[in-house]
Amino acid sequence: MSTIAAISTPNAAGGIAVIRISGENAVAVAEKIFKPVGKKAVSEMSGYTCAYGFACDGDERLDDCILTIFKAPHSYTGEDTAEISCHGGLYVSKRILRAALNNGAENAGAGEFTKRAFLNGKIDLTRAEAVMDIISAKGERELKMAENLREGAAFKKAKKISESLLKILGDLAAWADYPEEDIPEVDPLHLTAELECVERELELLVKNYDSGRIIREGISTVIVGKPNVGKSTLFNCLSGCKRSIVTDIAGTTRDVIEESVRLGDVTLCLADTAGIRETSDIIEGMGVDIARKKLDDADLVIAVFDGGCPLTEDDFDIINKIKNKKSIAVINKSDVEQRLDADKIAEKNIQIVYLSAKENDGIDMLRQAIEKEFQLNEIDFDNISAANERQKKCIDSSLKCVRDVIIAIKSGELLDAVTVLIDEAEQFLLELTGEKTTDAVVDEVFSRFCVGK
Ligand code: GDP
Repeated sequence: MSTIAAISTPNAAGGIAVIRISGENAVAVAEKIFKPVGKKAVSEMSGYTCAYGFACDGDERLDDCILTIFKAPHSYTGEDTAEISCHGGLYVSKRILRAALNNGAENAGAGEFTKRAFLNGKIDLTRAEAVMDIISAKGERELKMAENLREGAAFKKAKKISESLLKILGDLAAWADYPEEDIPEVDPLHLTAELECVERELELLVKNYDSGRIIREGISTVIVGKPNVGKSTLFNCLSGCKRSIVTDIAGTTRDVIEESVRLGDVTLCLADTAGIRETSDIIEGMGVDIARKKLDDADLVIAVFDGGCPLTEDDFDIINKIKNKKSIAVINKSDVEQRLDADKIAEKNIQIVYLSAKENDGIDMLRQAIEKEFQLNEIDFDNISAANERQKKCIDSSLKCVRDVIIAIKSGELLDAVTVLIDEAEQFLLELTGEKTTDAVVDEVFSRFCVGK
């Protein structure tokens, strides 16, 4: 493989910047562009050692730096690697990178260092994907989940299931291939029990997928309610800025306004919508249609009601729409005299939160209600094993095969025929870990990475 180089630190000014060079000629490239102050030549440096010196392009001195050398296979990529830590200026780091490129390195593509770690067998595909999850983690829960996967939670579980399937395949093969030997016939009942164990383990792998997705990607949340109940005020209060126009005139918000908001340890992908009510105004009507569609698609609906007024037909219409969805009823305007009968909402088993968006009072109760709605405090991080759609698809496909096998055995299918399906279930697990995958899948996984990682 060629020798690649990239700036691994963000494309911004900072304390330090790191230029990473990896590949067969990494040390040779480093030797050409780094002049150590000490006597030891770069080519004589052992792995895990540093040297102080100057990054140069030909005779031109660019910056004083630290060079760290890692020797294959004991490096992130599994190859010889040199890392030059220089002052964190955009221009100086680009100059040092250019010097590396002028001296035999090639520009690294997105995620190419991690891709090499995968291709060199340092990590499997699930661990590689977890690296990106660690980088994009915005809070404690996301980080914990990504760390678990980085340590191989998904890989280890997939391997364990894979071994069970291989054992079953081995038993079937021994019986089919050596009929003359005294190998006992595979008992369908025993086989079914073994496969049902595998089925349960696969189910466990996907069980917490949705909780994990919500922590990683945020909760798509729509704020609905009839006009003038305080939706835009709540939206602004949560987003910490005046994105939505607040007025006393009903029907002001016509389009959807969206903002990503951090509430406690969760991200809400928040949308403020037009007030839902019957209207003859064509443009307002279009807004109401979008609001209704958003309501159907969102993970969470925050339905806002005006605590100062009794419930109306439009309110009941909303209550009926949200009663079977994950939803929270916000009874807003708690700062004014209360005239709303909340029992009518509570009887539909919808959580109720009283707050005043205008006074920014009660927001923490809303946070608690959201955490309760999604049972965020009860998530079992150890069992979140599918971290993205790709992984979930592999597990789902494997699970489907196992279920098909169980049905086939129960309906008296020949054991020869079910072997094919068990083998297929195993192949999907190899796809999950990346042990058997296509270049297209690998390219797609790493294209989501940043350059330098
Ligand atoms: P929307 O049409 O549902 O988006 O409602 P707005 O956010 O535009 O608010 C309508 C009116 O209610 C405005 O005059 C707000 O100042 C007022 N309002 C919003 N929240 C509160 C609140 O918590 N208390 C009081 N007293 N008034 C509020």
